[in-house]
Amino acid sequence: MFSEELQNYDWEATTAAILSKKPSDVENALGKERLSTDDFMALISPAAAAYIEPMANLSRKYTQERFGKTVSMYIPMYITNSCTNSCVYCGFNRHNRIARVVLTPEQIEDECRAIRKLGPFENLLLVTGENPAVAGVDYLEKALQVCRPYFNNLTIEVMPLASEDYARLTKSGLNGVVCFQETYNRKNYKLYHPAGMKSKFEWRVDGFDRMGQAGVHKIGLGVLIGLEDWRTDITMMAIHLQYLRRHYWKTRYSVNFPRMRPSEGHFQPNVIMSDRELAQAIFAFRIFDHDADISVSTREAADFRTHIATLGATSISAGSKTDPGGYCTYPQSLEQFAVSDERTPAEVAADIRKAGYEVVWKDWDKIFD
Ligand code: SF4
Repeated sequence: MFSEELQNYDWEATTAAILSKKPSDVENALGKERLSTDDFMALISPAAAAYIEPMANLSRKYTQERFGKTVSMYIPMYITNSCTNSCVYCGFNRHNRIARVVLTPEQIEDECRAIRKLGPFENLLLVTGENPAVAGVDYLEKALQVCRPYFNNLTIEVMPLASEDYARLTKSGLNGVVCFQETYNRKNYKLYHPAGMKSKFEWRVDGFDRMGQAGVHKIGLGVLIGLEDWRTDITMMAIHLQYLRRHYWKTRYSVNFPRMRPSEGHFQPNVIMSDRELAQAIFAFRIFDHDADISVSTREAADFRTHIATLGATSISAGSKTDPGGYCTYPQSLEQFAVSDERTPAEVAADIRKAGYEVVWKDWDKIFD
């Protein structure tokens, strides 16, 4: 399990190693086709800030070689904001006095129809809070079955599950699982996740192994930028991805490192990452791993997303509502976080095409399940 491997990487020592990188380390890393973790640390270090242009060029080259000039589109559907956890940065924190909603199968189907009217989406991300009593595996299975006729590719972003539960859901059309570790800083993890199942660091970080063991086709990893040192968190995620590739080599992977946005909890980010630094992190990741999907959500601004989609990102959401029932059932309910890019899916697609890229709505067919 990765929690054991992670014991080999001390947080402070990794941070110090990243900060100690010199321009010669960056140049050395940029000269290699396949990078070590140490090389990745050089590219994500402050020393690499001066190399953003060559990094962008290399990132674009690798991305085009692997993905062509394409950008894949997806849309999230929140089906419940009921949650037993108390993540301090989240609007759905169980202590927040907000209306809690668990969509019925009929309401989920209404949301499916409403999304299909927004654009020809085939990649759907089903999102829930974490409350197994009201939205457990039975509920998720039903939700997948309801969505299946409307979308060819179903991914979930829900509480970490047991391996047999992931295996069970794949029989109802589950193709991918996204999970945010949020931070790999084991010591401080509980400051942000003080209660509920999410407070259990090992259960969460080992969830990716359980996905791999269950044969989930695509696994998405994520850290939330704003909690701990972002360079160290993204480096830990790169180490995690390498580990998963070694153990579950048939699986496809995606990564995501969104910056924190305002939410009902009014948590102030501990660290700020500039646009330039986010771009550096994306370039570093692409140069390190040529095959991973790099996803950029509507948390980021429109111009940034259009630009980065030509330089390294390969998957973006559009038209997103981050509240359950937000597409038609409860259009006024509370968002998990405020989105930054409010363009319609058609506007996002038009901007991508204007940048010379092809918009991919469908990259999977249920016949492959
Ligand atoms: S981040 Fe997820 S688990 Fe944490 S409070 Fe929000 S919905 Fe619940």
